[in-house]
Amino acid sequence: MSLKPKFLKPGDDIYAEDRSDVDQTSGTTFIYNPHRSLSIEKQRQRLPVFRARNHILYLVEKYQTTVVVGETGSGKSTQIPQYLRDAGWAADGIIGIAQPRRVACTTLAERVAEECDVMLGKEVGYSIRFDDCSTPGTTQIKYMTEGLLVREMMADPLLRQYCVILLDEVHERTLYTDIVLGLMKKILRRRKDLRLIICSATIDADQLYNFFNYNTTGDKDKDTVSVLSVEGRTHPIDVCYLEEPAPEYVKGSAETVMKIHRKEGAGDVLVFLTGAEEVDTCVSLLKEHAATLKKNEGSILVLPMHGALSNSDQLRVFHSAPPGVRKVIVATNIAETSVTIPGIVYVIDCGFVKVRWYNSTSHTDALVVVPTSQASATQRAGRAGRTRSGKVYRLYPEEEFRKLSEITPPEMVRTNLSSAVLNLMALGIENMLRFDFPSPPPAKHLTSALDELYALGALTEEGTLTKPLGQQMAEFPLSPQLAKMLLVSGDFGCSQEILSIVAMLQVQNVFTKPRGQEHRARVIHRNFQVNEGDLITLLNVFTGYQKHAESRRWCVEKFINHRALRRAAEIRGRMEKLLVNFDIPLTSCEGGIDAVCRCITAGMFPNAAFLHHSGFYHTVRGNQPLHIHPSSVLYTETQPQWVLFQEVLHTSQMFMRDLTVIDPAWLLELAPHFYEKRTMQDH
Ligand code: ADP
Ligand code: MG
Repeated sequence: MSLKPKFLKPGDDIYAEDRSDVDQTSGTTFIYNPHRSLSIEKQRQRLPVFRARNHILYLVEKYQTTVVVGETGSGKSTQIPQYLRDAGWAADGIIGIAQPRRVACTTLAERVAEECDVMLGKEVGYSIRFDDCSTPGTTQIKYMTEGLLVREMMADPLLRQYCVILLDEVHERTLYTDIVLGLMKKILRRRKDLRLIICSATIDADQLYNFFNYNTTGDKDKDTVSVLSVEGRTHPIDVCYLEEPAPEYVKGSAETVMKIHRKEGAGDVLVFLTGAEEVDTCVSLLKEHAATLKKNEGSILVLPMHGALSNSDQLRVFHSAPPGVRKVIVATNIAETSVTIPGIVYVIDCGFVKVRWYNSTSHTDALVVVPTSQASATQRAGRAGRTRSGKVYRLYPEEEFRKLSEITPPEMVRTNLSSAVLNLMALGIENMLRFDFPSPPPAKHLTSALDELYALGALTEEGTLTKPLGQQMAEFPLSPQLAKMLLVSGDFGCSQEILSIVAMLQVQNVFTKPRGQEHRARVIHRNFQVNEGDLITLLNVFTGYQKHAESRRWCVEKFINHRALRRAAEIRGRMEKLLVNFDIPLTSCEGGIDAVCRCITAGMFPNAAFLHHSGFYHTVRGNQPLHIHPSSVLYTETQPQWVLFQEVLHTSQMFMRDLTVIDPAWLLELAPHFYEKRTMQDH
């Protein structure tokens, strides 16, 4: 039997509702699915939002803002935009849907284009950072990231092109969800014809109701907001806990999958882990386990799902496995609410999630793996009971569940705000303290963001955007630090090199270490590694790739992830165009690495750390002790004195990743305001 996933045709197995009809007389399991031949139209009618269709259309007509609360999978993201289009809304403008995740934009647009029977990119399209798949004048339904919607507001402050904006997955409360909520409130006041729909799986609807209601008369009839709950169809879910927390949850997840496969009835499995690396490790572990399955034990098809995969790889999880083969999807938080994968009966929840957390003393924004909230554990479990009763395996004891916090606080109150502040400034919002945030961030975080932007040269002393640097930085869809690096790279004579580095930093898992060939891979990777650090190592990889005509074979030989490099080349092309637009000269320093490192310093200087006599590194700001991450090329015995880091990862310890070795004199030279009187002389 072939393990290749079958492509989903219209009418294929989307509702595997009656999978219990299993013929177990032979070694392989046959599944009878009476809905296999359901037309797309029928499938759409079976979704819970279908019954609320007219009600939704009525509310959108009558109220400026409509909050739709409904279980994940009830059809909010795919159906509501189509209902609006069919009701004629698209005649007055685009129906725009903002999503927190890129993956959701592409997979939803693809699905809706199929349901509407149109070509993706025509009537139904998407637009994400560095990838626009829409046709101006033709596209009626456009999925985009929240960040991209904010960018559209820079060009079109009242969103005149749009007739309806649907903010999806609002319960996630990402940084941009909150920014968009605040900005939409301003826009709605000025454009009475614009409609806002807020969709959410679980949310405190009251908070949004109060936030968007302009009616102060107390007369309910004059409300500008309405709230609608869509009844989902939930099936009972059995919850299983471990007696002791799993010591290694990645391994524990793989073992649990195999246990389910051997002991439980038919049905696909969804595993939740915290990041792409964990997902990849678990997938390889499962593939090893799968190879040991005996003939009469059936087979499994293991697929990863995370943001770093290519579009086509992401879509594979939606295709049904061949009959008798159990599909196992190993995913990051993406699968919690953003996308709905049909046919899941078993869920394994590791109990953790990776989030950004800002430390206002050291001014570092660390990625931390923390226990999930109760709300998100419930969401994850809910993925199992969609089509029939399911089971969730929580890899921790029951008393731990009760100790979990109810919800994860909104990102706005726990991350670095420099990007957010820069974007809001570019939109003309100069006084952050007076901006109407749904959850106001701590004032300390705001001041620290303003300090950083000032030091980067984006703000004047009066606190307005500098021209052109600050304005151009806001236009780059990158962190202010990377944007600055690119915008000054012409002055350092190394824009070609900086373009390659920044593009490489946008992709993940560049180096591959296939099982069994780890040693060989390490030896070959060493040829790219340099004492200047990880960024210059990435530059070497990209330069090699270009020198070898972007060949896939070269990548395979060098144990480099070809997909990641192809994507980096694509992103690089887009950024190069932006630089040309801004008249930044495209120059190369022809191997003069000092210029490149100095240019990196001009953008990354806020993230400086030095080797402390204790043997650890300390951040210059806040004296936060840090270690070099084992994945860094600088993870060796000879430790450099001064480094700049791109990212902090907080696991067992605080680790810095993606390092560049610098001369501390550059900090004083390139960021005098920032480092002048601070603590330089103390070290
Ligand atoms: P919600 O937004 O309420 O969570 P969606 O509109 O995303 O729900 O999903 C509705 C249904 O469409 C789901 O039951 C899911 O099975 C199906 N679906 C969504 N995306 C795809 C896809 N890319 N391929 C196949 N089915 C999909
Ligand atoms: Mg949705």
